[in-house]
Amino acid sequence: MTEQIHADASAFAVRPSSHPRSLAERTAALEHLAFGTTFSDHMAHAVWTPDAGWHDQRIEAYGPISLDPAAAVLHYAQEIFEGLKAYRHADGSVWAFRPEANAHRFATSAHRLALPELPAEHFLGSIEALVRTDLEWVPDSPGSSLYLRPFMFASEPFLGVRPAKQVDYLLIASPSGPYFTSGFQPVSIWVAEDYHRAGPGGTGAAKCGGNYAASLLPQQQAAAHGCAQVCFLDAATNTYLEELGGMNVFLITDDGAVHTPELTGTILEGVTRSSILQLLRDDGRDVHERQITLAEITEQVASGRITEIFACGTAAVVTPVGHLKGAEFDLTVADGNAGALTQWLYGHLTDLQYGRTPDPYGWMRRLD
Ligand SMILES: *Cc1c(COP(=O)(O)O)cnc(C)c1O
Repeated sequence: MTEQIHADASAFAVRPSSHPRSLAERTAALEHLAFGTTFSDHMAHAVWTPDAGWHDQRIEAYGPISLDPAAAVLHYAQEIFEGLKAYRHADGSVWAFRPEANAHRFATSAHRLALPELPAEHFLGSIEALVRTDLEWVPDSPGSSLYLRPFMFASEPFLGVRPAKQVDYLLIASPSGPYFTSGFQPVSIWVAEDYHRAGPGGTGAAKCGGNYAASLLPQQQAAAHGCAQVCFLDAATNTYLEELGGMNVFLITDDGAVHTPELTGTILEGVTRSSILQLLRDDGRDVHERQITLAEITEQVASGRITEIFACGTAAVVTPVGHLKGAEFDLTVADGNAGALTQWLYGHLTDLQYGRTPDPYGWMRRLD
């Protein structure tokens, strides 16, 4: 168990919204939860300049921000973000899942994008302060949560190319329902062979908007082939499986072993991925983080050696992969149902997140 980093919530002065939604409005909003369309009444906000450092930390009314049209982010995409959730437990308490890991990754991403590091105390403090202010926005229906989106961007109005000297940090919160509304639905994945999301030395290991911008066209192609998600191969050799646009990927073989692409610098290290690796190792599973070729996968799905494939990330936790398609193949991994290990992992992780099982790792952090 790791020692908890202090959350400096008091650094964020609360300036209550003058127009919070009424109980009736909030109740209506929490009844029909989609993903990322409804936001709570407040947001956290802080500004950085080289001279003053991080300052003006506050919780303020959620709403449009004013940006100069020359703000560097709009031109050169100097931006990073995070994604995590606050879960309401049966006793009404509210918890986050491994937010220290997100704080750490946010700092790593900031470094790669030449943005200032937000101290973990402030990252965690903003989460605590916002969730406490908007506590009633944490839903309690089954499988629901308050999705938290911290992000940081270059707000300096300047068209020259260099790291910005004014940066904004914001945290917004969106109540969201279960990702799968009618149980697990295996999705189809399109393997992109013409486009890549990240190259050696690039920003693949950082959580930045630019990586997502690069994934949208291949994502469109995936949709045109009837697939929900796109999977990328390594840019250097177009041979090894890397990950999806926003999720890591795992394979299970018929000997019960688990395989996932190793972190080579072009793959984003998911908190869900790390947690799954830990759960599997502690369960005594054979776990292999290694380079996995597309050829091996197509061959072993066809032969039945690979029995389950799933993707994982904060939003869906785990997503079973039913079909794997590419320009020259169309393979069925699972018809209808998710595999047993995929289901076990989903159950185990969500039981931890919703406090239905003891937390031996100290992964849950109480927010209120
Ligand atoms: C956010 C993200 C993931 C998943 O990370 P989690 O911490 O598990 O949510 C995986 N891949 C990419 C590219 C991502 O941006």
